[in-house]
Amino acid sequence: MLIDSHTHLNFQAYDDDRAEVIDHCQQAKMALINVGAAFDSSQKAVELAQQNKNFYASIGLHPIHVLDEEFKIADYQKLIDSNPEKVIAIGETGLDYFHNQDTKEKQEEIFLQHIELAKKNDLALIIHGRNDKENRLDVYQDIYNILKEQQVREAVVHCFGGSLEQARLILDLELYLGFTGIVTFDKTGVLAEIIKMMPLDKILIETDAPYLTPVPYRGKRNEPVYVKEVAVKIAEIKNMNVEEVIKITGDNAKQLFKIK
Ligand SMILES: [Zn+2]
Repeated sequence: MLIDSHTHLNFQAYDDDRAEVIDHCQQAKMALINVGAAFDSSQKAVELAQQNKNFYASIGLHPIHVLDEEFKIADYQKLIDSNPEKVIAIGETGLDYFHNQDTKEKQEEIFLQHIELAKKNDLALIIHGRNDKENRLDVYQDIYNILKEQQVREAVVHCFGGSLEQARLILDLELYLGFTGIVTFDKTGVLAEIIKMMPLDKILIETDAPYLTPVPYRGKRNEPVYVKEVAVKIAEIKNMNVEEVIKITGDNAKQLFKIK
């Protein structure tokens, strides 16, 4: 099954035509996970999951928002308790040194609270990592250290943007890596190299819509149905049939997020 493992139809970018975009998803008979970045967008993700077949929600406070609001763990727990079938992950959480490395410690503290919430509820984590502009820090090494120390067993590092060596670190923990439309326009060749090396059973595909629109839709707002282009590119890199890539990445998402 085609599954967009990380998307944001819960964001304002879809306020004017959300029903239409949802209709495109239903026509494609795909499943998707709307990912929250703060409490209100987490609530919205849950609401969309309640209303639509094959829609699921991940809830959390994005590392770039750790100073904007408090991470009230009890409120997130309530969201899980009232929607146990539909809340299938915690996040996005993680570390972001691109937007604000001054909050590094605060981000770590909130990341640890997300890990605690995920473990308590036997849910997977959706993890965001982004390095600073000058690449002085090593966000993936820091994420690896935390995940290893906390013995996290169920997680995806979404929109992976690190090196081959950093990808190997995450795979050493037997966790998943998520790939977006960037694979369709990555001129560095690094992502293709990583995908070539990776076992297919650790790959998730995603759009991160409304951002990161794949080729051939560059310039347009992204939407979940375009996740197929990510599968097409991975199939090309791994010299496989697209349908096979769609099936295996869909099965991976179902397994990680325990989707029946
Ligand atoms: Zn995202």
